[in-house]
Amino acid sequence: MSDRYDVVVIGGGPAGYVAAIRCAQLRLKTVCVDEWTAPDGRAVLGGTCLNAGCIPSKALLESSEHYARACDGLASHGVRVGAVKLDLGAMMARKDGIVGDLTRGIEQLFKANGVHWIAGRGQLLAGRRVRVREAGREQARTLEAAHVILAPGSSSMELKQAPLQGELVVDSAGALAFERVPKRLGIIGAGVIGLELGSVWRRLGAETVTLLEAQDSFLPMVDEQVAKEALRIYGAQGLDIRLASRVTGCRVKGRTVEVRYEDGEGEQQARFDRLIVAVGRRPNTDGLADEEARLLLDEWGLIHVDEQCRTNLPGVYAIGDAVRGPMLAHKGSEEGVMVAELIAGHAARVNYDTIPSVIYTHPEIAWVGESEQSLRAAGTDYRSGVFPFAASGRARALGESGGFIKVLAEAGSDRIRGVHMIGPQCGELVAEAVIAMELGGSAEDLALTMFAHPTLSESLHEAALAVHGRALHIPPRRRRKR
Ligand code: NAD
Repeated sequence: MSDRYDVVVIGGGPAGYVAAIRCAQLRLKTVCVDEWTAPDGRAVLGGTCLNAGCIPSKALLESSEHYARACDGLASHGVRVGAVKLDLGAMMARKDGIVGDLTRGIEQLFKANGVHWIAGRGQLLAGRRVRVREAGREQARTLEAAHVILAPGSSSMELKQAPLQGELVVDSAGALAFERVPKRLGIIGAGVIGLELGSVWRRLGAETVTLLEAQDSFLPMVDEQVAKEALRIYGAQGLDIRLASRVTGCRVKGRTVEVRYEDGEGEQQARFDRLIVAVGRRPNTDGLADEEARLLLDEWGLIHVDEQCRTNLPGVYAIGDAVRGPMLAHKGSEEGVMVAELIAGHAARVNYDTIPSVIYTHPEIAWVGESEQSLRAAGTDYRSGVFPFAASGRARALGESGGFIKVLAEAGSDRIRGVHMIGPQCGELVAEAVIAMELGGSAEDLALTMFAHPTLSESLHEAALAVHGRALHIPPRRRRKR
């Protein structure tokens, strides 16, 4: 096998493996280099998303929801079950099975598309060469490439006040593999990961779940009205979210962890059986490029790129979590496709204004585009339409009538600028809003579209109608007396 390629991709996560497949589809001779190994030592593709992030966490979310429903969600449907027993081992084995199937699926896709795969650590050298150190081989090999795509992903950020310690103080990957349900669970960081993992373990029976969050605002990137509703719902579910609580230290005492933190009232202490550190992620760029390659990074270690993911080096692109923008698998995948098309000489771009975000708690939070606070900050005149799930027949039938959908449209043009939702299956519903925005749609376009009844998606229709005060299933806003 020759070591000259049209494209060398470093990283086999959702950004890198998608880029590699698209390159191969475009008849470019492509190799993907990835160093991830499964707990059993097997080299695997899929990166964090498949092995220790999106997929295993969603498997556990789903299982924990079944468990919670069996415990106390079925009686109201007239379904009575006997004593419910948790088999955590079976739940974890199911999760591991899903991960195994999907990572092997990518291997199959590589084979079917003719993508070469090298299990090892890649490093960018000067002149579009990549040095690869393969596990168990003394000698490194050097690949030569016409184009290089860097997709190294990101890792959990560590907190010096709370260093990871065995199974007691863990990061998000460790929290997906607890062997028993912790009675008192502590989480540092009430961001996306903290909330998703806290919800899973609360549903599985953790007696207390305490989230210590340094900021005094909750989910600042989310629309304010949605964040307020979320805080109320999570509180009712038993998540104890303590804002403005900055962790200052942590000590393991026997089988428990003592955490010290400061809040508005001074020094506080809390004791937990397990502690999860979920304070953000940082790009995997340490040692990614040899100094002589002169790859430009910014002050956070992100690879500097332009709108089309070109680095400062000719023929070298970077995509996914290691470049600017939200750390989301789908954003990385779209960048991978764009870069493959550019390499093949086609025109391509990513629309960064329509990236959907989803927080997979129960209920789900999802949004796309601008929030009310960002529109206000930009001085944009807008109209808003809100429809509560409480007025949706389908949500009522599901027994999930909390939350709402909000459509924000520019006042003059009526163009949809943002859609925000909290409620049942919002992670799926948001796709309708993304399509409407991608096609440059207006609130009126959505209002004129027919939605099937009875579905949750009708709530998006009603929210669009509400932009112009025409929602049919909620009382009209009171008109001012003349
Ligand atoms: P995050 O940035 O969402 O949240 C981390 C939180 O930790 C912040 O609110 C921060 O204020 C807080 N924090 C930091 N230092 C602290 C301290 N000393 N004491 C208390 N709180 C502290 O990060 P995350 O939840 O770790 O997620 C990482 C990335 O992964 C995010 O970019 C996210 O988009 C992505 N992700 C996305 C999904 C999804 O799309 N559903 C799921 C998981 C992760």
